[in-house]
Amino acid sequence: MCEVASMSDRKAPEQYGLVETRLQERLDNGTTQCNLCLWRCKIKHGQRGFCQAHVNRHGTLYNLSYGILSSIDINAIEEKPVRCYRPGTKVMSIGSFGCSFRCGGCHNLDISWGVDALDDLARGESRQAYVTPQEMVDVALKAGVQGIAFTYSEPAVWLEYVIDVAKLAHENGLYTVYVSNSFVTDEALQQVAGHIDVMCSDIKSMRDAFYQQICAVSSVEPVLHAIRKAQELGIHVETRTNIIPGRNDSPEELRQIAEWIRDNLGADSPWHITRFFPAYQLHHLPPTPLDIMRKAEQQALEAGLQHVYVYADTGCDCAQENMPIEHYLEADAETLFAPKKCAKSCCGDDGVLLKKYETDATENIDLVLNSPTKH
Ligand code: SF4
Repeated sequence: MCEVASMSDRKAPEQYGLVETRLQERLDNGTTQCNLCLWRCKIKHGQRGFCQAHVNRHGTLYNLSYGILSSIDINAIEEKPVRCYRPGTKVMSIGSFGCSFRCGGCHNLDISWGVDALDDLARGESRQAYVTPQEMVDVALKAGVQGIAFTYSEPAVWLEYVIDVAKLAHENGLYTVYVSNSFVTDEALQQVAGHIDVMCSDIKSMRDAFYQQICAVSSVEPVLHAIRKAQELGIHVETRTNIIPGRNDSPEELRQIAEWIRDNLGADSPWHITRFFPAYQLHHLPPTPLDIMRKAEQQALEAGLQHVYVYADTGCDCAQENMPIEHYLEADAETLFAPKKCAKSCCGDDGVLLKKYETDATENIDLVLNSPTKH
């Protein structure tokens, strides 16, 4: 597997450019496999992975979105939601573009899937903000927060930047939070261990059928394994379930989730129960009735969980009401949103976009979305 030694010594780029991804493996069939998340995409030259954030150029995988910021805000840590780590402190929440899921009820499509933004980056036509890790930590320190939270999009597809920021955050006395779908590999978790203090992970359901129908991935067990693994690696783990009417709201299933947390993470492990609000392909469903949420809490308490939190007002950690990025960065918008062209020394004369991406990679995504159990 080509990776890590060179990555750990690498200096963070001062300006936007493609950054080699951490976990990649050249295969005999001419593809390169990305081992950051459980898709383990096998990507040909010119194609991008399922998340659209990683591109193969001549056999090497690069992250398109290193340092590219989609959203930023300051929140109480309780809003992530995290309740049993440094309560009463504030975090700077940041995210980029790209996700390993395609959730039918997503509230954050333009950020989490980030299709337009990632296409622009792939074409070398992006006007999104680029922020170096040091600048990001400086902004957080100046804002007077105690931690940095990687959220809004899936941090695993932004891992190179997450780790660079997290290392500097720790050096400057800030803690780090990682809000995730936990569709990540053991290798990726080992990379973040020691750099991430808190992981807030979704347990969306205990049924494979839910993950297949709502998230376009085949089963729940790898997600549960990753949550367990994160805790074994010493990361403080809290879990969250967004209850969707008619999809994951049966008392039996909610009891099963609570029992799984009790048996695998401990009776003192916090569980957050959040309310679904209609969006995207699930726009026709009603918000979760409050009595179902109370029943879920009851199930959890009966199962023996000691820290159960119910949220009636928010359905997700979305970026919809954030202040503009330039407000937090105190930057002049013209400079901040200047076109991001990759240096020629990085990609050569043919630029970032290779024609093949527009055909094969797009077809692959259609294939996956139409056949959720196959990849
Ligand atoms: S979806 Fe993205 S992060 Fe996951 S394996 Fe594929 S290229 Fe890597």
